[in-house]
Amino acid sequence: MPGFELIGDEEFQEIKEIFEKSRILFRHSFDPLRNGVYKVKDFEQAFAQRFGVDYTLAVTSGTAALRVALAALGIGPGDEVITQSFTFVATVEAIIESGATPIIAEVDETLNLDPEDLRRKINSRTKAVIVVHMLGTPARMAQILPIAQEHRLAVIEDTAWGCGGDLNGKILGTIGDIGTFSFDFAKTMTTGEGGMVVTGDRGLYEKAAAYHDHGHENNPSLPRWEDSRSGSGFNYRMNELQGAVGLAQLKKLDQVVAAQRQNRDEILEAIKDLPGIQLRDEPAGAHGTADALVFFVKDHAMARACREALLQEGVGTKILPEAITWHFAGTWDHMSSLVKANGGDLARAFPKSRELLGRAVALPIVVKMAQDIPQKIRSALGAVLQ
Ligand SMILES: *Cc1c(COP(=O)(O)O)cnc(C)c1O
Repeated sequence: MPGFELIGDEEFQEIKEIFEKSRILFRHSFDPLRNGVYKVKDFEQAFAQRFGVDYTLAVTSGTAALRVALAALGIGPGDEVITQSFTFVATVEAIIESGATPIIAEVDETLNLDPEDLRRKINSRTKAVIVVHMLGTPARMAQILPIAQEHRLAVIEDTAWGCGGDLNGKILGTIGDIGTFSFDFAKTMTTGEGGMVVTGDRGLYEKAAAYHDHGHENNPSLPRWEDSRSGSGFNYRMNELQGAVGLAQLKKLDQVVAAQRQNRDEILEAIKDLPGIQLRDEPAGAHGTADALVFFVKDHAMARACREALLQEGVGTKILPEAITWHFAGTWDHMSSLVKANGGDLARAFPKSRELLGRAVALPIVVKMAQDIPQKIRSALGAVLQ
């Protein structure tokens, strides 16, 4: 889970520098007053370096990052965007906000996009696919990319949970056309609220940057108040306080991911011989962020029994099974375009995902894990998985 466990003096020092040297909380302008303090710009540059990507744009949230990515790709009314059934509502909200129609594909045993169902859902209106590395496990990019290429679809990677993971040596978020990150409080690194858009394509970056800033092109030969513009936009700008926290958190990212992987391995070691557990699949070459340890049991009743037994031991589960209504599209009756696109009734939509998610259990992984947690989890699960 989280960078928030490690928020401390490093973040405070970055913020303190703003108050000591500039007191400018806006990312643009005020150059004579800043004494060289540009936290959002520095954060973007440091992120570009760590992720090995040419262009980075800091924004106000992971949801904003998705919305900006769709705008950069020119997606709007009449277009269809495919994403997976298991994700946070934000992924689909961004598609709805863009005016496009969200089309939901099934997940497979990775609990990420099922490449075969992606193929089935493509038609002449499909413009893009948003692949989610859900709960930190990489999606099947080796199968998904060729399908997208064949049908000339843009690929957005929703890397909200995948920050710091990689797949066959490629950093998650930098594999498709655009990657989006979330720095909300529960994500691998946090700025309280915040997000990042990354791309290797200069044209996409320029469109994203303008859209997130009311259309501002930041024309270097013009003052900001006379700036040029070629399209309408919105305001998704990150502020300097968030940029400051992001700089400190980014330095801790590798430590967070390493600790999560180690703690995941310790829990796995403690439970792997229990009967009736099948781990979530991972594509070959995947190095996830170990945000959660996810496994399948025989049915939904057993998944709930696992959660109850874990709670008795003072350990929780994460999203699966208890928060499924925020993370499974088959429950989103409040999204009328989704309901309409699925024959007016979501209750029978996405049966494969429903079956898999219904019997999945996700154990949260933290950075600062108490030593007795693996044994507590083992005894809780051991009692129900007979
Ligand atoms: C958290 C999350 C988002 C949204 O990020 P916010 O920063 O909370 O707006 C988008 N997609 C997924 C899969 C998420 O988990």
